[in-house]
This record gives sequence, structure tokens and C-alpha cells, in this order.
Amino acid sequence: MNVLVANLGSTSFKYRLFDMTEAGASLLASGGFERVSEYSPCIEKMLEDLVAEGHIGLADELDAVGFKTVLGKDLSGCVDADDQVLTALEGFKEVAPAHNPAYAEGIRCFQQRCPGVRRVALFETAFYQWVDAAAANYAIPADWRALGIRRNGFHGASHKFIAERTAELVERNDVAERVRQLYVQGPGEFSGVPLRVISCHLGGSSSVTGILNGIAIGTSMGFSPQSGLPQNNRVGDLDSMAIPYACKMLGITVEEAETQLTQYSGLLGLSGVSNDARDIREAAAAGNADAQLANDAMVDSIRHWAGSFFFKMGGLDVISFTAGIGENDVTLRAEVCAGLQDLGILIDPDANAAIRGGKEGVISAADSTVKVVVIPANEELVIAREVFRHVAVGDALS
Ligand code: ADP
Repeated sequence: MNVLVANLGSTSFKYRLFDMTEAGASLLASGGFERVSEYSPCIEKMLEDLVAEGHIGLADELDAVGFKTVLGKDLSGCVDADDQVLTALEGFKEVAPAHNPAYAEGIRCFQQRCPGVRRVALFETAFYQWVDAAAANYAIPADWRALGIRRNGFHGASHKFIAERTAELVERNDVAERVRQLYVQGPGEFSGVPLRVISCHLGGSSSVTGILNGIAIGTSMGFSPQSGLPQNNRVGDLDSMAIPYACKMLGITVEEAETQLTQYSGLLGLSGVSNDARDIREAAAAGNADAQLANDAMVDSIRHWAGSFFFKMGGLDVISFTAGIGENDVTLRAEVCAGLQDLGILIDPDANAAIRGGKEGVISAADSTVKVVVIPANEELVIAREVFRHVAVGDALS
């Protein structure tokens, strides 16, 4: 089965075409367009290229297209990308303005251009469907909650992949299989030995998720991807009173505050240097105190959330690092795990230094009771796998 993954950024369109079988995935083609203002011409050109390169005879020979949709009102999971998905994206377009309109347009383009091709949406919130109500709710009045204001969580595709891959690495096939089947069969009952994982997705956008027996119990991101850890240029967690107070004292509107918190905050706002972790580390090494503060605040926030999940899960078996910073920043990984030997967490400095540049491996010491691992992110592949499972199971049932 060939599966096209369409990645619609706010200003870019990237795609990958995979050949999917039960045994695995192979990449057939990939490409993309930058500085995109309209998706339809890009999709047309991509289809032309895929035909010209001989990957498909006609556009309609694609078996499925997968979309990594971000946030839907009253809808989550891995579902057919139909009118229900378009309505859900529309319902929260104010909360995810950079993503929801883009995905709605992309889905409509495919609907019109190749109506016979199966379209599947994998929501970034899907992995958090089974989080306890006590952890998913904010303490707000009922009419606010009726609007759908709750802790949603994001990076679901990435953290779910980590849940599955981590279980494979520690030879817990019972848990890995539970994760593989999660979106098609639900979690079911689990009576095996507990597997407690903290997954740190640290990139341009970052989050920490607690995963018990393959299922997320909570995550650092909340209602929108605006919350949790300091992000590249977005604020992360902020006390709700800060916004009315800053508006009043700085004489700015709520819209101006929103722009400052979504574009000029996070690592960029704290460091005053850059939104890129590499530049910040370089500036900190050269003595820039604000850059050092940005790095330290990021580390502190990762430890804050990891500590919370450690406590909630009653212990820990694996910490996993992924995405640009998690896969490459050896120093930050060491800082996150520093001084935790009494909790059974001990990094092997040589192993830590050796795992970077897209490598997978264990970076904890032999006598660390908690395994610390690095797992490269591959979001397109994760989506292709979930789409394949969704379509294959749907076909098996029909
Ligand atoms: P996105 O969330 O946009 O997909 P990535 O997962 O690619 O982003 O992560 C981007 C982040 O990873 C940037 O902040 C970048 O500085 C950081 N990064 C990439 N390589 C390194 C490195 N060698 N050391 C430290 N940080 C790195």
C-alpha cells in the first residue's frame, strides 16, 4: 500500500511517499516547497512529479494520504479526513491559527483533486485520549469547559512512536504491541509488569510526556501548543494574570500580547539572542548571562515535568530523548539527568557524547537502574504507519 504523508506547515508544504507493508516501510519519494501561500498549486505539482518519476501511474493510484492535523474541536484520534474533520478544524481555528486553516485547505485540495484516494487525519492530540479527567481538566467554570478548554497535549505522533520504540528497545513486546494497536483497538486491559517511561520531545517546539504501559498519563502541553516548556519563540507556561497585568502596564491590546507571547517569547524572549538552541549555547559559552538563563530555564522546565510524571507513575524505567535538541544536545541531556543517582538515573558521559546526529542508542551507565535512551524522531514515518494501520484495519472489518 502506498501512503503519501502531506506535511502542511504555515509557510511550507512537504511530502513523503512510502510503500507500506506489514513488514515495514520504504521511502519511495520526498520533496517540498517553501514560502507557500496556496497549497493547491504545490499539490498539483507534487502529483505531476510523482507521476513523471514513475511512482504512481495517475494521482488516483495513491492508496491513502495522511495529514498530521493539530487540534480539532470535539474530535481527536486517527480518523478518516472527512467533513467531520473539516468542521473540527474550523471549530478551533483561533486556537491553532498557523495550522488548522492550512490542513483544512490541504484536505479540501485532495478531496477535489483525487476524490477516490483515502484521506486520513492523525490528530496531534490523539495520544492523550485516555488521560484521566483529573489530569486533563483545568479548574475553570463549566461554561469555559463547555467551550472545549482543557489540557489537550500535542506531539502525539512523536510521543506515541517513542512509546512503541522504547518498549521494543527494552524488549517489552507486550507493551510495544499494545501501543501499535492503540488507535485501532483502544488500550484494552493491561495486566503485565508496569513499564514507566518519560518521553522528552525537545525541538523547535518541545514537550514532556509521561507514558505508563504504553499509554500517555499526561503531558506538559495544555489547551494549545503555547503551553508547557519554553518553546523556540513561544512562551510555554504562564500565569493567567500576567496577560491582563502586562496589557494594562504596557498599554498593549490582548492581540499585541498574543503576538509577543507567540513570536517573541520562549527561548528567543529569554535569551534575546535567537530561537535556536545552538546559537543560545554558543552565546552562553561566550558569557551571555541571558542565553545561559534561557538554557537553564529549559532544563529546569524539563526536570519539573519529568519529576511530576516520575511521582505520578510511582517510579521510572526509561527516559527517552528525541527531536532536534533531544537528539543532538549532549550537554542539555547531561544537565537534565544531573544529580539524580539517588533516583537510579546515571548517564554514561562517553555514551552520551557518542549518540548524536540522528543516532539511536542507550546513554545511561551500566549500573543506572533507569535506562536513558535517544531515539531519532521521524514524524512522517509515524504518520504513514498509523495511516497504514487505520486503512488496513478498516478494510479488514469491511
Ligand atoms: P521542529 O520542532 O521545528 O521540527 P527540530 O526537531 O528540527 O525542530 O529541532 C530544532 C531545534 O533543534 C533547534 O532549536 C536547533 O537548535 C536544535 N538542534 C539541532 N541540532 C542541534 C545540535 N547539534 N545541538 C543542539 N541543538 C540542536
